[in-house]
Amino acid sequence: MKVEWIRQAPQIGMLGGSRSENLLDRATALAGIGAWSCNLSDDSLSWTSGIYDLFGLPRSARIDRREIASMYAEESRIAMECLRADAIVRRRPFTMDAKIMRTDGAERWMRLTADIVCDGERPVQLYGLKQDITEERARLETLRRMAEQDPLTGLANRQIFQSRFLDCAAPMKPLGALILFDIDGFKLVNDRHGHAAGDACLQSIADRLCAGFNDALMVARIGGDEFAVLIPPGSPDRRLELRVERQLTRLSTAIHWRGDLLKVSASAGIAEVRDPYAFDAEALFAAADAALYAAKHAGRNRVRRALPEVPHACM
Ligand code: GH3
Ligand code: MG
Repeated sequence: MKVEWIRQAPQIGMLGGSRSENLLDRATALAGIGAWSCNLSDDSLSWTSGIYDLFGLPRSARIDRREIASMYAEESRIAMECLRADAIVRRRPFTMDAKIMRTDGAERWMRLTADIVCDGERPVQLYGLKQDITEERARLETLRRMAEQDPLTGLANRQIFQSRFLDCAAPMKPLGALILFDIDGFKLVNDRHGHAAGDACLQSIADRLCAGFNDALMVARIGGDEFAVLIPPGSPDRRLELRVERQLTRLSTAIHWRGDLLKVSASAGIAEVRDPYAFDAEALFAAADAALYAAKHAGRNRVRRALPEVPHACM
């Protein structure tokens, strides 16, 4: 039978047959890269050293495609099997990033590239590269976190609050209420005890808000001493108000700082959502802000609720 190769696959089984191939195998493994191929008639795999290292397997290990697939994280495995099936049917290449769990329990991320080899019209082999991209992913994740986090408190920053809540055409998740908190007389803390003491206060307030609203969709620092809490549906009106009152009591507990006791209190404005799936985020923010202003105006260290039907009216 005459075999017509549309594209010539790399002959991985031959690797190691010459000095230069040995060098290439070692050098690619060193860079966290390996070549692979899969014979589609019996699903047998062939790997260079880099892939054994990536999966944490001895280079002499017997490799079985089903066992290797079970080392993929579920989501990655499903995506990989879909792309693989599609590549075979449509005879086209694909690339994906996949998470795997090594035999030693370590998680790794790899970039998988694949293409198909055909005998005439019949797909006979898949081949490609796998590259360890765990460090690259970790670096990107750190950068993403830095861009989204307030460095002082570790809370979501204003940009994230803005983009996930205020600018979002569709709500990120069903929402029950927005609560805004602002520390009372915070300038005085800075003036009396110094900026470092003020920073310690902000950190403590952030920790207390996270502990008090551990069910929140988001706790964000949206200004110097201003915080926003997004609450899921299920805490109707007065119950939420009582919860915020208890939170204000906790926030006003003195903070120990380098031998000093820092005393602060906070005011809060609540704006509840009538329809958790469809609401005007900007109007809701304006309503919570007006309620917060009313709480300040009424003497501070208290909460006010905005009427959802009349965004700027306060009870
Ligand atoms: P009010 O009761 O009306 O809220 O008055 P306030 O003194 O709390 O003042 P306001 O909320 O208007 O201003 C917040 C102050 O927070 C202004 C600024 O000096 C201070 N501030 C803003 N960011 C930081 C920060 O990162 N660290 C510290 N230590 N202080 C900050
Ligand atoms: Mg303030």
